[in-house]
Amino acid sequence: MVKHLFRTLTWPEVKERAAQGSVIVIPVAAIEQHGYHLPVDTDNVLVEHVTEEAALRSEGLILTVPMIHYGFNEHNMGFPGTVNIRETVFIDFCYDVAHSFVRQGFDRIVFVNGHGSNQMLCNLAARRIVNTTRALCGAVAHWALAKEAVDRLRESEFPGGMAHACEFETAMYMYLKPELVQADKMVQRETPSKQNNFLFDDLFGSGPVHMVNRWSRITESGVEGDPMLATPEKGREFSECSIKNLIAFAKLFRAYEVPPDADFNYKNEKL
Ligand SMILES: [Zn+2]
Repeated sequence: MVKHLFRTLTWPEVKERAAQGSVIVIPVAAIEQHGYHLPVDTDNVLVEHVTEEAALRSEGLILTVPMIHYGFNEHNMGFPGTVNIRETVFIDFCYDVAHSFVRQGFDRIVFVNGHGSNQMLCNLAARRIVNTTRALCGAVAHWALAKEAVDRLRESEFPGGMAHACEFETAMYMYLKPELVQADKMVQRETPSKQNNFLFDDLFGSGPVHMVNRWSRITESGVEGDPMLATPEKGREFSECSIKNLIAFAKLFRAYEVPPDADFNYKNEKL
């Protein structure tokens, strides 16, 4: 069977896979509080499952590399268990990781992110790869790949009811590691985050104004959403949907041909 995890390859095998055009998937997550009922590795567990399973089922197309475990998390530092990487350091770090794969000859790279606050930074790191190399690099949150399943199964109010340690994340963790979910400590529907028509926060659509408050000001448990609506069956559907869509995207991304560069600027010989 073709290896699907980058860490298990030898360097000649890495070279071979670059020549074959494997798509590099970089899982990105965070170690942070997830309420009273979920472990601090929630984002890691969810994104690891989606990215490793997608690679396993992709018949050699996707190579999943070791995860970036820590994320941008200053807003959560009021809770024990959270680790923060400063935003500029994080962008540079993600860029350096992706750029290393470009230097090895890979030309299609995707950050698959499992922590909301990382998303805009992963987007910027990906854009920097596109702007500075011949490779294509994109960034996606794994829940965005689960949208069809969420649309079908979601019971939380919208918008604002699915944000953190919520129906979505709890369901996936219940499906993957039920023994670590402390169901008796779940809080019901804490801080649905819709404050007004401008400021609200949801995995599936935030308000027009971007503002992330310090978390400890708005939630006591750390939860934003309703974990009581989670079931392992929903978790299975959410993750299967993400896996299927990640493979589908990798195929399209591989097939997408890069048009030649053009430069329409006036060429001033004196400069
Ligand atoms: Zn999370």
